[in-house]
Order: sequence, then C-alpha cells, then structure tokens
Amino acid sequence: MKKMSIRTRITLWYTAMLMIFLYLGVAGSYNATRHILIKQHEDGMRKGAHILSERFIALNNHDRLGRFDKDEKLAPKDFNFIFFNNQNEITHGQYEEWMVDLPQEIDQIRMVEHDGQNWACFDSAVYQNGQKIGVTRSLIDITSTFQLLQEMQQRGIIAIIPSLLLSALGGFFITRWALKPIKNIAKIAKEIGDGNLNKRIELVTAKDELGELLNEFNHMADNVQNVIEREQQFSSDASHEIRTPLAVIITNAEYAIQSHDLETCTQTLELIVNKSQQMQQMLSQLLTLARGHEQAQAMELEQLDISNIITDIVEERSMRAQEKQITIKADAEHNVIANIDLMLFTRMITNLLDNAVQYGRVGGHVNLSVYRDLTHHQAVILVVDDGIGIDSDQLPFIFNRFYRVDKSRSQAGSGLGLSFVDFIIKLHKGNISVDSHVGKGTCFKITLPLSS
Ligand code: ATP
Ligand code: MG
Repeated sequence: MKKMSIRTRITLWYTAMLMIFLYLGVAGSYNATRHILIKQHEDGMRKGAHILSERFIALNNHDRLGRFDKDEKLAPKDFNFIFFNNQNEITHGQYEEWMVDLPQEIDQIRMVEHDGQNWACFDSAVYQNGQKIGVTRSLIDITSTFQLLQEMQQRGIIAIIPSLLLSALGGFFITRWALKPIKNIAKIAKEIGDGNLNKRIELVTAKDELGELLNEFNHMADNVQNVIEREQQFSSDASHEIRTPLAVIITNAEYAIQSHDLETCTQTLELIVNKSQQMQQMLSQLLTLARGHEQAQAMELEQLDISNIITDIVEERSMRAQEKQITIKADAEHNVIANIDLMLFTRMITNLLDNAVQYGRVGGHVNLSVYRDLTHHQAVILVVDDGIGIDSDQLPFIFNRFYRVDKSRSQAGSGLGLSFVDFIIKLHKGNISVDSHVGKGTCFKITLPLSS
C-alpha cells in the first residue's frame, strides 16, 4: 500500500482533532443549555407545587369540591394541575384526562411525552397540621423548550460540517506551502546525487529551523563538492606529475638492460632510487594538500621549542649543502615555544632549506634565525640565502601549486614545495612572506603565534 504523504497525514490528523473538539463543544453547550432550561422548569414547578399546596389547603378548609372552571385562572394556561385526596379522588384540577392515569411518583420531576408534546410532571404530597390530606400533580408543557434544544443540536451539527471542510482545505494548502522547501531540498539533493555538484538551494533569510536546515544543507554540499574536487585534483595532478619521472625511469632502465654493463646498471639504479624518492615526496605533499581539512583535524600539536628543532634540521641538512659548498648556519634564540606539529613543521623548514641550497650559489651561505617578537607575541623564523634570487614579477606566484620560476633551473623540482610550506604555515595559524633580489639572494620570513 502506498504510504500517505506527510501533508495528507497532517491534514487528516488535525481535521480529526478539530472534529472531536467541535463535536465536544457543540455537545457541551447543548448539554449545558438543556440543563439550565430544565432546571428553570424544575424550579418553576417546585414553586408552583408549593403555591398549589397552599391553595389545596384553603380549598379543603372551605370544603369546595369539583373541577376548576377554566376561567378561574388558578394557573397559567400551559400549567395543568390535579388535586388528589387521600382516597385518590380528584377534588380540583385543570387538566386533560390522560394526565390522571400517570402513576404517582412523589417529589420526582419526570419528563412525559404525549401526542407529540413534551411535558414535565411533578407530584407533591400536601400536609395540613402534620396530616397528609392529598397529592398535587402539576404538569407544564415544555415542547417549545425541547424543540429549541433539538434545533440547537441540528444547527450545531450543520455548522460543524462546513467549518471542517473549510479548515481541512485551508490546512491542506498551508501544509503544501510549509512543506514546499522540503520538497525542494529533496529535488536538489537528487540533482547533486546525480552528479550536478554545483547545485544549491536558494537561501531564505528566515532564521527559523527551516532556514537553518537550508544553510546547513548548502554548507554540507559545499564540503562534499570541495572534497570531491580536491580528490579529482589530486588524481589528475599525481598522474600528470608522475608521468615524466616514470618516462625517465623506463627509458634509463631499458637502456641499462640492453647495455649489459654493470656500471651503467648501477648508475641507472641510483637514478631510479632518486626519481622514486622524488615521486614519493611529491605524492606525499600532494596528498597532504588534497586532504587539507582532514589534515587540519589530524594535527598533533605540541608545545615545542622551535630553536631546538631548527638546530637539529640544520645539522641534518648541512651534509647535503656541503656538496655545493654551501654553509648553513643557525642563529636561534632559546625558548621560542609554539604549538606545532613536529612532523609537518620539520617538513616545512626542510623544504625551505632545500630550496635555499638548490637555488643557492656554489660556495654560498644560508642563514636560519629564530627569535621572539614580543610586541606581536609571535615567533619569527628567517631563512636567508645569497643565491640566484627570484624576479619580483614572479614573486606573487611562487606559492602556487606546480609553479616553477624557470623550469630549466629546477629540473628536479615539481613546484609543489612552497605551496606545501604555505599550507602548513596556515595550518599553524602563521604567516609567510618573501623578499628576493635576482643575483643577490632570497629571504623567507615566517611568523607563528607563541604559545606562552
Ligand atoms: P619542489 O620543491 O616541489 O621539489 P620547486 O623547488 O621547483 O619544486 P617550490 O619549492 O615550490 O618548487 O619553489 C617554486 C619556485 O620558486 C622554484 O621553482 C624556484 O624557481 C623558486 N624558488 C624557491 N625558493 C627559492 C630560493 N630560495 N631562491 C631562488 N628561487 C627560489
Ligand atoms: Mg622546492
């Protein structure tokens, strides 16, 4: 069976509730009115019975027997009464014959129906000097009251039907209007699911639950799109960047196989190891960049002294620099404590040092200094070289992915290093700037917030 829509369910639910409330309202007011009217009659009858009893006693004293003349106006026209003596004989009265035969029920007000008319009947015992001398029976015609009540009931029921129809119809349209944004979300979600990642829901300004849901939905769609696009970017970058070193490896390996020469084979293996290491580093950097958001969450921040780390890195990289007769010097102030992820921070500084050596001149110098800028409560790291420098036109682009100033001068590089450096510094809420002069050298300045 097809499931009912939320809209139909809501409409049915509140229409049923409304019907119950309206019915209870009509029934309640009917019962209250009925009770009031009947109570009025009852009070009237009890008073009337009392007056009749006094009259009965007076008549009894004068020993007047017989039926009242209609003109005597002992009682109003719609008020009938009968005096019964102790022998159950009628002594006086203004009544119709059928009223005589009703069974006696002392002090009980009863509703009696006769000939399509409704009557209230009340029997009351009459006492004189503590002796019961008879019973008065009074009857009043309450047909009009019953008709009034009946009419009220009918009108109430008739009034319920159009108000139910009207509110059901109104509610049906209101729920359609209220649920429209949800239908819209389902439609857009389907389009996004079908691959149209750019689709978004038109935002409403309302700051209600629905507005919040729409905002969150769009935010989620943005994130999903980002993740997918970054993964796609990674795949295309990786496959593109791996192609060249792989081609070099294949060509050299084929040449080595054919040469049957041990020395050529050894050189080729060295080249393969070298190229593989480059590819490994490039892939690892690319992956870090592609997983930006997750990387930020996976960071293991520790309060560390930057000076110690820098001194260790300088020691470790000095050997490589010596191949180019470049001297690396560290000038580090102690106790420069910052919140850093040791692994990422080390890779970042190593990248800058490797650049300084790679683009440094033979016999040149690389200086690394670390100090605290207490005015701005930050740690400052300077990486200065006296190498080939970068043209001022190129400076704005060097942090872009795969950007290389002069492809011929960085044969080995993939142009990822600085974008990786920039990314890691941003993860640490720091900043990087560069100052460079062609032929004179380059200075990278990094600032990171101090942790204490
Ligand atoms: P990778 O670092 O990915 O192996 P790469 O060194 O070419 O390759 P980046 O580190 O991003 O890439 O540097 C981008 C470009 O900036 C380099 O190609 C180089 O031309 C220039 N560059 C970077 N550092 C220096 C420097 N210290 N001196 C001169 N030029 C530099
Ligand atoms: Mg580099």
